[in-house]
Amino acid sequence: MPEIETVTDDAAKSVQRAIREARRILWINPVAYSRSAAQQAPEAELIEGIADARNRMARFAPLLAKLFPELTPSGGRIGSPLISVDGIAEHLNMSSEHGRLFVKADHELAVAGSIKARGGSHAVMEIAERIALENGLLDGSDYAVLDSERARAVFSHHSISVGSTGNLGLSVGIFASQLGFSTTVHMSDAAKLWKKALLRKFGATVIEHDGDYEEAVAAGRSAALHDTNAHFIDDENSLPLLFGYATAIQELAEQLQTAGVLIDKDHPLVVYVPCGVGGAPAGIALGLAVTFGPAARCFFVEPVQAPCVLNQMLAKPDSHPSIYDAGLSGRTEADGLAVPRASLLATAIARPYIDGILTLDDAEMLRLLALAHDTEGLQLEPSAAAGFAGPSVVGATLAGRDYWEKAHPTGSLHNTTHLVWTTGGRLLPAGEHAQMLERGRPIQA
Ligand SMILES: *Cc1c(COP(=O)(O)O)cnc(C)c1O
Repeated sequence: MPEIETVTDDAAKSVQRAIREARRILWINPVAYSRSAAQQAPEAELIEGIADARNRMARFAPLLAKLFPELTPSGGRIGSPLISVDGIAEHLNMSSEHGRLFVKADHELAVAGSIKARGGSHAVMEIAERIALENGLLDGSDYAVLDSERARAVFSHHSISVGSTGNLGLSVGIFASQLGFSTTVHMSDAAKLWKKALLRKFGATVIEHDGDYEEAVAAGRSAALHDTNAHFIDDENSLPLLFGYATAIQELAEQLQTAGVLIDKDHPLVVYVPCGVGGAPAGIALGLAVTFGPAARCFFVEPVQAPCVLNQMLAKPDSHPSIYDAGLSGRTEADGLAVPRASLLATAIARPYIDGILTLDDAEMLRLLALAHDTEGLQLEPSAAAGFAGPSVVGATLAGRDYWEKAHPTGSLHNTTHLVWTTGGRLLPAGEHAQMLERGRPIQA
């Protein structure tokens, strides 16, 4: 594999050049080296926000179990398995000295088939609960009563809308429609046809825009502006979304414990999350900081043509750059990551809690997609395969080794648990996946 450059903030100029030239890089956040010494605890409001989201999701679980047969076995809980993937590890330049590799399999999440099932469902629940309380639909703690004509009649006077490259639209569209809301999804030109078709099947209105993700979000935001019964879920600026994602970490902590995996400062957890606008990975990073403190470290993974969060991390305070200004196209097979400008909310929340960001090109993403299928039988969409670039970059390049020695003076590599967050793929039509496999298999490292 090609040697990956490493860059720190004091070399911001050279990172910016690497971004413009669409080169693969590993950017190390300067806080990576100081975190274990004096970790700043997340603000109380953020910790409470995650706890509230968990409680809200638990209150809604009996309702979801009724509305979605897929969720009946879990009692309405939206969760994914933790999978040990030693088979793929040996193909990622990882040897036993690199520790163990796991996948957090959000590509299998029920209903929406991606990590957006967590954030999107929670954002819908937050709106639905507010309206239900205002209208006296809830007199006790039994939320299953919201599966009723009376509740649906109330919800149908409200609309929920969202702008998306695809997966958030799917998640919000499906959950909101099933509750009885009138639902509108503004889709960017990167959104795949099958995602639009599926949404329409659930009764959502899909509005297609010629422009990119940012334009789809802006169109949705302004359409909802003057209507008090219109609720816009803003992917660029939503705490309910972010808290919904963050709830995944409590689930993860329980799974690691059940699997007998110890996480502490001598046994670090390193998590690799594909990153688009930043909301989902920021939620993960925040949740990790709350639950594990500095024992867990997080890297975001972005496409070389759309590294918007990296671009924002390097930007001057008060500026909000677009990757188009760096001469990049934003075009990538990773439709879920095709975002030109980062969420400022997500970037601000994630900044103290990520160790770095790495980038990869589409060829590598497709190679990893095929590898994940052929070694472990995982059905991933391209965005979701991106995280597999992490362990080899951080564990097996000079750049990564340098980071390791400085950031983990006590936690040696072989005591480390690497975790790749596979963020989507369950709903990907078999034919689409087969095409991606055909393209990914011949690509050699
Ligand atoms: C949305 C998405 C991401 C990234 O989430 P952001 O909140 O946009 O950063 C990663 N993978 C998949 C499959 C997604 O749909």
